[in-house]
Amino acid sequence: MNRGIFQLDTKSGMPILCTIPMPPITPTWSRPAVSSSYGPSVNSLSPLPADFNEFIGNTHVVESLRTAIASGHLPHSIILSGPSGAGKYTLALLLAMTIECERQPRDLWSNGQTFASFCGHCSNCTRIASAVDLDAQVAAAVTAREELREADKKDTRVLIQPHPDVLVLPPDPPQLLIKLGQVRTLIQRAHYLPAEAPRRIFILTAANMMKEAANSLLKILEEPPDSVHIFILAENLGELLPTIRSRCAIVRLGALPIEEMELLLADRRPDVPPVQRSLIARLSQGAVGRALTFDLETYTASRADALIFLRNAAAAVQASSNSEPDHTALFKMTETYRAGADGQQKTIALLRALSMLLEDLLLLDAGTPELLRNIDLRSELDRLAAALPFAWIERASHAVDQVYSGLRRNLLRSLSLDAFAAQIAMPMADP
Ligand SMILES: [Zn+2]
Repeated sequence: MNRGIFQLDTKSGMPILCTIPMPPITPTWSRPAVSSSYGPSVNSLSPLPADFNEFIGNTHVVESLRTAIASGHLPHSIILSGPSGAGKYTLALLLAMTIECERQPRDLWSNGQTFASFCGHCSNCTRIASAVDLDAQVAAAVTAREELREADKKDTRVLIQPHPDVLVLPPDPPQLLIKLGQVRTLIQRAHYLPAEAPRRIFILTAANMMKEAANSLLKILEEPPDSVHIFILAENLGELLPTIRSRCAIVRLGALPIEEMELLLADRRPDVPPVQRSLIARLSQGAVGRALTFDLETYTASRADALIFLRNAAAAVQASSNSEPDHTALFKMTETYRAGADGQQKTIALLRALSMLLEDLLLLDAGTPELLRNIDLRSELDRLAAALPFAWIERASHAVDQVYSGLRRNLLRSLSLDAFAAQIAMPMADP
């Protein structure tokens, strides 16, 4: 475990673990070598783009942010919004490196524009880049918290600190919300001048916050200190209080068009057969990060389970009204989601696959089959769309959303999945 990488704070804001900043470049854990097809990177351990040219998509958005940094006019509070995998966290780290880089390189264009950039090699750049593997570092911090005394555990919040002046606030497990303790630490540190770099930077990696945390954040957003930049990464802007949104500059990362995604995949994942690349380009919904790391095999397994819901419902519609439909296959499948440490991930993958299938059915109903994502299932989706009433599809989509929020509130996953199965098993029942 690398205690230089993450930091846990108690309610009092005092660090329990690790006050030693990360030594440059060399994290002590090992990670699999990054495939060269992902392009060169800041260092061999990091899949971070080596420069802004390697950040795919949203060119104009990125250019305007770089211009703002070069001219010293970057807003203090910025919401980076976009779907999962659009590159929000990657971009936040690149911007943080650009702001903090010791060498402050500039790209000068013939039209007179100046774009700020980063060197990727100085002590500030490399330390910030070390936060790229966020999931692993959060997992390590959570494990460290588990080892604390029961009394300390409750008030200990997960924070990732790659650099003395850069603090990453991930949603705190298991509820996966940004909590008050995390925001309190942000506020406390925001009022100190930066220790080693030009600015203090805070990255909130999700928009879902506890109410008290959001209200507390609002106060610092009203009057952010001059030396502070706060980035809030949001999949869904609606999750943020309107008062928070109105105090931030909102930067939207759009989806990459399917044709461009296919070209990118042909370049970066030439090992994947063209038919599968085409499918991945659609399933990744325009999110570059998701496309480049898309695990089709795992997705197909989750989707096979998700299809059982749909087939079961279609069979129930077709069964005569006096015969009881057979739900054996359905509940046998949900049974496999009860146990295991990775049960929650598996459930989330199932719900995502189901959600995508339901959206495809709605696209068929709407007469826009060219927008389908699961293009390899076209004939089965046609059959299901013909069999399942529109109202059921809508109701099932709503139920998927409810299970998601149940997972977020940390309800027992098997219970919510069973309840979900029972709820949508009967297509003709009243909503
Ligand atoms: Zn640098």
